[in-house]
Amino acid sequence: VIDAGQPDRTVQTTCAYCGVGCSFEAQLKGNDVVRMVPDSTGGANEGHSCVKGRFAWGYATHSDRVLSPMIREHISDAWREVSWDEAIEFAASRFSSIQRRHGRDAIGGVSSSRCTNEEVYVVQKMIRAAFQNNNIDTCARVCHSPTGYGLKQTFGTAAGTQDFKSVEHADVIMVIGANPTDAHPVFGARMKRRLRQGAKLIVLDPRRIDLVRSPHVSAAYHLQLRPGTNVAVINALAHVIVTEQLVNEAFVSDRCDARSFAQWKAFIAEPAQSPEATEVFTGVPAQQVRDAARLYATGGNAAIYYGLGVTEHSQGSTMVLGIANLAMVAGQIGREGTGVNPLRGQNNVQGSCDMGSFPHELPGYRHISDDTTRAQFEQAWNVPLDPEPGMRIPNMLASAITGQFRGMFIQGEDLAQSDPNTLHVTAALSAMECVVVQDLFLNETAKYAHIFLPGTAFLEKDGTFTNAERRINRVRPAMPPRTGLPEWEAVCRLATAMGYPMHYSSASQIMDEIASLTPTFAGVSFEHLDRVGSVQWPCTEQRPAGTRIMHEQEFVRGRGRFLITQYVPTDERSTRKFPLLLTTGRILSQYNVGTETRRTANTVWHPEDVLEIHAHDAEVRGIADGDVVLLSSRKGTITLHAHVSDKLPEGVVYTTFHHPEAAANVVTTEYSDWATNCPEYKVTAVEVRPFD
Ligand code: SF4
Repeated sequence: VIDAGQPDRTVQTTCAYCGVGCSFEAQLKGNDVVRMVPDSTGGANEGHSCVKGRFAWGYATHSDRVLSPMIREHISDAWREVSWDEAIEFAASRFSSIQRRHGRDAIGGVSSSRCTNEEVYVVQKMIRAAFQNNNIDTCARVCHSPTGYGLKQTFGTAAGTQDFKSVEHADVIMVIGANPTDAHPVFGARMKRRLRQGAKLIVLDPRRIDLVRSPHVSAAYHLQLRPGTNVAVINALAHVIVTEQLVNEAFVSDRCDARSFAQWKAFIAEPAQSPEATEVFTGVPAQQVRDAARLYATGGNAAIYYGLGVTEHSQGSTMVLGIANLAMVAGQIGREGTGVNPLRGQNNVQGSCDMGSFPHELPGYRHISDDTTRAQFEQAWNVPLDPEPGMRIPNMLASAITGQFRGMFIQGEDLAQSDPNTLHVTAALSAMECVVVQDLFLNETAKYAHIFLPGTAFLEKDGTFTNAERRINRVRPAMPPRTGLPEWEAVCRLATAMGYPMHYSSASQIMDEIASLTPTFAGVSFEHLDRVGSVQWPCTEQRPAGTRIMHEQEFVRGRGRFLITQYVPTDERSTRKFPLLLTTGRILSQYNVGTETRRTANTVWHPEDVLEIHAHDAEVRGIADGDVVLLSSRKGTITLHAHVSDKLPEGVVYTTFHHPEAAANVVTTEYSDWATNCPEYKVTAVEVRPFD
């Protein structure tokens, strides 16, 4: 705790980093933050916090914040500070000019999972109503879009099934492609507590995360698979359950679709899906898979928690389907201590998806082509809507390079650092006539912007975030916006300047509109949240207290649907030139592209990204611990310090992506998930050489 004196007031709000969504009490003296204290009544954190959340106020009040709107004719020009009116007018006239010359689909936007539900809602509304197209996407595109797809297909809704508390009832915990103690620390600690009480742990990960072997906790099974073979392993686990008669027959017959189960069962029982057949390319010993499957199916309540190691693959969506299949066949869903739980990365990535930030879905995950849904929004918004889905981020970028797509509104998203194949992204941004960045800092993407609209930090926001357990938390302003304008109001002004009048008196009024148009939010209002603290959607008039656990009596879609999950190897293969496989992840003290954590007290920990490499791979290349190395892929080369590590098997290297100096995404490829275009960050063929 940094103690700067005695506070004279406190404001209860929500951490703006990860998907745990911890509640905090901001203690202030005037407009200065004295300290942030985790809130013991917080539904997600119950008085705990991590090192990121405690020091988050450091970036909110940092001197690097841009507080005035800025414009420039060309990206080679210097920025010029202007009034809000001039910046909005400049952006509106550029966007309108592009649409007159190149058609209405030549512009689009990206909403931010760092912003509130209310701020995201008005951005997607601006795109659909003022831009008159559906070219709206969100950073979930590059993280959990396969979760949305997979869970909707199988269960009927695009969200995790449990609350965090549910883990306290798990007898078996399976962690797949996630590192909760670093990326979701407060929930990671809760999981660890349950493991110390005796729950068994199964980990699927190419890297030995800390949970596998830490004081008082060790995994029963660490299935250390080769990167890119997730689907083969999840199929092998299901194969054991089916062929060893471990199916929860009562659950499957009562709750699941019989026809899809029969088809899937025939597929999964094939010898090709067996642990013995897949061991040769997954690298996981067959006996370990058999033992882990038996434990999952028969060890009591078993819960699956997964992260980006599942979704950021060319078969990310297939893997989510495979996880859902596994939970259903073992009957491990619909009660405490079980379920399928995506650990969402960003504070409001669940909310930004809920709010209709996808090009094919209106708020509440309803397809834009559905006439009844569209008519409801057309009537409420008083504007006709395009029934055709719009472009995703990768489509917008590719189309910019060929000259069709020419203008982009980017809210709180650093595409130039966070998206894969950086050189492709920056070429696309450079080709556009109008890039508007709404952010706190001049991030990497702002280098390619013509208009910069200063955003508000979480301590200045009024609204809500929705965390990984569907919990809608209040975000309350501890101080007025230092930019002079709430972020949602800047968006409303831009929409109005483009010819679609959009006016709200408050963030609360925006939430009332969301609730009136989104069935799962029907019972949500600021007044209700202020009274009860927080709620998990669905929150309706019939369920005003919200919903802790989903699919208890039946799945949202009725009967759970099994889907065939054929393993297809990625096209990204190791070769003689690039013999190693790179995978990426996060570290405790830093957050995503580090724009914020690098401007807080967290900077003292992990001040740079390093490359973890197995001792043998290092030795044969003449690399010692601490050496500077070149990391090369088909896409580019970057420089990092090497860290010889026993957390990885031979042939696999690992780095984080928090620092623009390392620019990890220079080397990642254009491959992406077949269903959602989520990039394949987790498998890149590379070579590592000593830096000469
Ligand atoms: Fe909680 Fe995540 Fe914030 Fe840490 S970063 S305090 S775990 S919400």
